[in-house]
Amino acid sequence: MNYKRLDPNKQDILIIDDMADNLRVLSSLLTREGYNVRKALNWQMALSACQTVLPDLILLDIMMPEVDGYEVCQRFKAWDLTADIPIIFISALDDVFDKVKAFKIGGIDYITKPFEFEEVLVRVQNQLALRTARLEILTLNAELEQRVKQRTWELEKALQKLQGEITSRRQLQSQLLDIALHDSLTNLPNRVLFIRRLAKALHCAKQESTYQFAVLFLDCDRFKVINDSLGHLVGDELLVAIARRLQNCLTPVDTLARLGGDEFGILLENLPDINSAIKIAENILQQLSLTFKLSRYDVFMNASIGINWGNQDYEKPEYLLRDADTAMYRAKSLGRARYHVFDPAMYQEAIQLLELENDLRRAVDRQEFLVYYQPIISLATGRISGFEALVRWQHPIRGLISPIEFIPVAEETGLINPINIWVLQSACRQLSIWQHHPATSDNLTISVNLSARLFYQANLTAQIDQILHDTQVNPACLELEITESVIMENTHVVKTIFQELKARKIKLIMDDFGTGYSSLSYLHSFPLNALKIDKSFVKRMQDNQENMGLVPAMISIAESMGMAVIAEGVETKQQLKQLRSLKCDFAQGYLFSKPLEQKLVLDLIASVPQW
Ligand code: C2E
Ligand code: MG
Ligand code: MG
Repeated sequence: MNYKRLDPNKQDILIIDDMADNLRVLSSLLTREGYNVRKALNWQMALSACQTVLPDLILLDIMMPEVDGYEVCQRFKAWDLTADIPIIFISALDDVFDKVKAFKIGGIDYITKPFEFEEVLVRVQNQLALRTARLEILTLNAELEQRVKQRTWELEKALQKLQGEITSRRQLQSQLLDIALHDSLTNLPNRVLFIRRLAKALHCAKQESTYQFAVLFLDCDRFKVINDSLGHLVGDELLVAIARRLQNCLTPVDTLARLGGDEFGILLENLPDINSAIKIAENILQQLSLTFKLSRYDVFMNASIGINWGNQDYEKPEYLLRDADTAMYRAKSLGRARYHVFDPAMYQEAIQLLELENDLRRAVDRQEFLVYYQPIISLATGRISGFEALVRWQHPIRGLISPIEFIPVAEETGLINPINIWVLQSACRQLSIWQHHPATSDNLTISVNLSARLFYQANLTAQIDQILHDTQVNPACLELEITESVIMENTHVVKTIFQELKARKIKLIMDDFGTGYSSLSYLHSFPLNALKIDKSFVKRMQDNQENMGLVPAMISIAESMGMAVIAEGVETKQQLKQLRSLKCDFAQGYLFSKPLEQKLVLDLIASVPQW
């Protein structure tokens, strides 16, 4: 409430009474007590007094002509500005004073006439004190309200700021999440995100039987060659180009992810059947087979794809990917640049392979290998000219395992290096023992098969030197059997190693001749001492009595290149006869002897057999 005061230090009292005497007496008493007192004889004067300044208290006589006290009181109570001003009624003794009415219309107290001044003063003081207190409360309330408003405003401000911060933090978080879930090179989803999408797809399949999906695992064929020969920058550029090409083969609902290195994962959704997944895989292979025109090179690339048709029986999304991966491996082993569809039997095989791999690792540590020896017969003399060392694995549970089963695994895992070097060592040690036997000549030879992997080993020649030195074997008695893949894969390095071996007079034999893909002119440029005709050709020789198949041609090729010929897999006398008639130099096979345990070899030697 806003009103002026006559004297701001004094409280203001308005006395309304039609009796001038009453007015005067009361006025002078109260003025003496320090109040500011104004007087009104009737309603009109009272009103204009209030319009000038609002009093703090009104003393109001009831009995007045024209407008009586009740009416005045009601008018003041009805007017906003004056409604709060405390009104004390003053009534003469002989007035018919209706206290109830006085209070009902808003009076706050009453004093009877003739009054005791002390009583008037106390009642006035009380009411003024009450009013002051009430006004203070109002002011305090108003202040409080203002403070609450201010605080609310501040809180709102703070809230707004906080919300702004939350928003920008969320943005940052989603940016970080984005980085964490994407591959930085191709910008594709990474393995983590891919597995999440697979989980979602698996969930959908479990909820809805009509939902069909497939997982593709794609691995680039021979990507390492590009990285190694053209450099990582070109490799990266190629990966980006591959990603783009793959994306073009897919629809927006599909997920393409880079799983790492040169591996990509694809989730195909909403498929009608497996054939549609196969069609997509075929299209991808077709698209990838087109030249990649990079900034500095034109590159050819192919890929192997494993397809796994999703189903709700999978427990975990990782398993879906694992089986697609297994199928991809099968595609690779079937010749690359193709797809293969997963079937559960493959999983069993993969498990077995994994077990074999683990067992093989242990076998290397525990030296579970044995060398068997198969004699090689000189057809000119009919006598044993040497032995081929053939490794076997003495598995603690499965017994003897054929090299056909474990050599490929050993090659894939790199375990072939220690195994093969061990075979070389054992074979050389045996040869030196046998060579001291009276029934053998000093030029008895030992043939050892060397895996192509060994040629990637930097110190192959040095290792062979060491073995020859330790066993005191004459290098001219050592024959190394290699396959065509050796000379096909790492030509330059292999040529150097061959020269080093040749300089030591170690003999080099091309094993399984005829089964590989090397051209004759290519063969010619390597310093080979002999060709070993693969047993499949020897076998067919008998079926094809007249021209003996390709064997005669092979023998004459060897002859023209100045190489000796060994026929392997000779099982019958007929074959032996044919080979002799063709002037084949050496033969090996069950006809003469199966590969033998080492302890049986001396007996064979001692029996001095002749064929
Ligand atoms: P390979 O070097 O061509 O060896 C000849 C294979 O033919 C041997 O199989 C031998 O037992 C078998 N064989 C010999 N005579 C006959 C016959 O008359 N008829 C038939 N059907 N087979 C005959 P094995 O011992 O199972 O070895 C298989 C292959 O494993 C070898 O083929 C060779 O490539 C590889 N291998 C064996 N030992 C080693 C080794 O120490 N290092 C490496 N890298 N490979 C090895
Ligand atoms: Mg061999
Ligand atoms: Mg062979």
